[in-house]
Amino acid sequence: MFDSVRVRLTVWYVGVLAVVLAVFSTVLYVMVARSLYDDLDDDLRLSLKMVTVKLVKELGENRPERQAALDAVNELSTREAVAVFNSSGALVAEQPAQGDIHAHLPAANTVPPSDVYLGTEKLRVGREQVSRRVAAEQINVNTQDAPYTLVVSESFDTVEDGLGAIRDLLYIAIPGALLISGMGGWFLTRQSLASVLAMSERARRISAENLEQRLPVINPRDELGRLAATFNELLSRLDESFSYQRRFMADASHELRTPLSVMRTATGVTLEREGRTEGEYRDALKIIDEQARRLSHIVEDMFTLARSDVGRQALRQSDFYLDELIMEVARAGEVLASHKGVEISVAPAAETPFHGDEGLLRQMLLNLLDNSVKHTPAGGSVSVRLERANGHHAITVSDTGAGIPVEAQSKIFERFYRVDKARSRAEAAHGATSGAGLGLSIARWIAEAHGGQLILKSSGETGSTFVAMLPVNCEF
Ligand code: ADP
Repeated sequence: MFDSVRVRLTVWYVGVLAVVLAVFSTVLYVMVARSLYDDLDDDLRLSLKMVTVKLVKELGENRPERQAALDAVNELSTREAVAVFNSSGALVAEQPAQGDIHAHLPAANTVPPSDVYLGTEKLRVGREQVSRRVAAEQINVNTQDAPYTLVVSESFDTVEDGLGAIRDLLYIAIPGALLISGMGGWFLTRQSLASVLAMSERARRISAENLEQRLPVINPRDELGRLAATFNELLSRLDESFSYQRRFMADASHELRTPLSVMRTATGVTLEREGRTEGEYRDALKIIDEQARRLSHIVEDMFTLARSDVGRQALRQSDFYLDELIMEVARAGEVLASHKGVEISVAPAAETPFHGDEGLLRQMLLNLLDNSVKHTPAGGSVSVRLERANGHHAITVSDTGAGIPVEAQSKIFERFYRVDKARSRAEAAHGATSGAGLGLSIARWIAEAHGGQLILKSSGETGSTFVAMLPVNCEF
């Protein structure tokens, strides 16, 4: 039963309220009781005063002692038992309460000579023991006379009636309040948990196949609404990453299919007829070799991208000089460039120590240089420059190629994106070193994994300029 949040919340709610009500009622009860007992004592003091005034007045008028005392005791209501004793303790006059209860002289020496004695005494009335509040005082009518003792007593009935009424009220009010609040709590928790139940019901039905579904958000401003919204954001991110993975798989298989089908066609056509010449076999093997290279290039790129998904942990860091790395990559690029009739120039740069993954940065530079050479016609040039600007190492690769169409410029860093897919595949089929549209996305990831960035600074009819910015992180 306590496994239900609803039951637990209601029990807590009622429990806390019960404790608060118990403390509050106890404090209230004690305060009212004290005040009622104080009122009773005040009443008795007042009665003593009234009897004293009357007695003093009557004796002052030289009335006989007994008559004066009788007149004085008759001043009070019949609720109070009152008695006047003379100095030797003999009863002079009395008025019993309820016709039977007498006010006795309190135990000897307990009445102080100049103060009011207040105490609770047990009296026997018939067969019963009753408790009564007693007030006594010694009074001197004039200084020569020995003192009289006045005793007034009253029952606790009024106090007990008052307290009994309060107790009756609390006995009904507290359980009533707990019952109402318990029912209210039960209803409120049902209302608030309804959205949780709806959310869990919907969440149970969401799987990889229907990740576009979202949890219901009943009130977006309350905690549960915010929880649902956060969960929906998580679902959106998962949905995005799932569809990204699906797209990636589709694109990857598409890219792998082209070289494979070229290879199968080459082998099929060659083997179709017997008695081929060595030259024909060589041509077929050449096509297969080129396509195999292309395949391994794509697989390597995909492997690098898989590393990119692991993030920075994938880096194998060491200290090296960026300017030396650029020279080395430019020399490697010159082989392809001179073949095409494109000139590569590297601007002189200062010694630039750097801490990072040398292999990955080499790949980034090779991709940029390779693209520039590939898209620059014979007679054109590619220049590489390394500078320090605003706390960054800026590596600029510019070419004098035909540039990238404006509508494609924002997409070239996406995985598998190529400006002219048809042309690229046709080139690929004929053995050109065109990539699968992964080069720039890999290059950008490498720059970002080093805390830097890669941007296309400009591109137009006169050529394109890419800038890779890497943080200054080493001064050895
Ligand atoms: P790939 O590996 O197929 O070259 P990239 O991701 O490196 O793919 O490049 C994406 C697209 O950007 C390419 O299809 C290419 O047309 C275009 N591109 C990249 N660099 C240049 C450049 N320097 N000049 C013109 N076009 C470029």
